[in-house]
Formats: sequence, structure tokens, C-alpha cells
Amino acid sequence: MAPQIQILSSSDAATVSKTCSEYSLSEAEFKKLAQMAAAAKKDAYCPYSQFRVGACLLTADGEFVYGANVENASYPVGTCAERVALGKAVTNQQRKFRALAVATDISPPASPCGMCRQFIREFCDLSMPIIMFDVKQDYVVLRLEELLPLSFGPEQLPSPSHAAENASTRVHV
Ligand SMILES: [Zn+2]
Repeated sequence: MAPQIQILSSSDAATVSKTCSEYSLSEAEFKKLAQMAAAAKKDAYCPYSQFRVGACLLTADGEFVYGANVENASYPVGTCAERVALGKAVTNQQRKFRALAVATDISPPASPCGMCRQFIREFCDLSMPIIMFDVKQDYVVLRLEELLPLSFGPEQLPSPSHAAENASTRVHV
């Protein structure tokens, strides 16, 4: 059965305060995530779907990295806002994240697609909150492990050095 999803009001101070304490965010961080994810929608390149998505990551060292969706005439080539933001952060040597916000122009809020959930899984703790804002900046918040249960991640593969060892062993036998 699908889990019950609760849409929370970002204009209710007590609600925001409870969210922040539950997910170890300051209220300033929460507000900035909301603002930057919503503002990033302006940068979306979405001439085909007209479906703007903004995303904003909070890094472990307190930086905010935003992204927006980038579509393509060959539709499947398009990239979601979440992967654009993560790509920017990762290529800027950031590997630890505390939260991800995603903003769209619809209500109830949209959640990251399946491909993005797996992409997020590569770099973020299973307990990291993903805050999904709707057009009024009301939100749903879930941890990555709730959005992607029973997930497959990097620790389930042999470490690259171990894999290289196995490969060199195979060459010699
Ligand atoms: Zn996606």
C-alpha cells in the first residue's frame, strides 16, 4: 500500500520548526533551500514539456548548489534538475550533502523520478531529507530511504582497488 503523504505548510512556523529539528536543519537553511529551489526554476530549459523544475542541494560545509532541468529535442537525452545540481556539486569536489530541495509549479509537489533517486543514492546518505516544494512552497519531506527502499548503492560493489586486483588475477591464471 502506498504510504500516506502529508503536505506541510511552509507558512506555519511551528510546522517548519518541527521539520527543521527532525531533519537537523536550521530554519535559515530550510528557507534558503526553499527559495533557491524555487528561484532555480527560472533557469530551466524546458521548451518541450514547459514543466519547470528547480533543485537545490545543501552541502555538508553549508554551501547551496542549485540546478534546473535541461531538455533536449531528443527527449530522453534531457536531464532533470536534481542531476544537474548534483553534477555541478560533484564536479566542484563536493561529496557530502545534508539536504536536497526540489521545486515545481504543481501541487501536490512532484517527487524526483526513479533515475534521479538512484543518482542521488550514489552521493547521499539514506537518511538525507528530500524536501519537495509545490507551487505555493508547501512541501512534503521524506528521507532518501523512504523514496528509494531496498536500494542498490556503491557499497554493494567491490571497491575499485579490489576489483582491479581480481582483474589482474584473472589475467594471470
Ligand atoms: Zn529525474
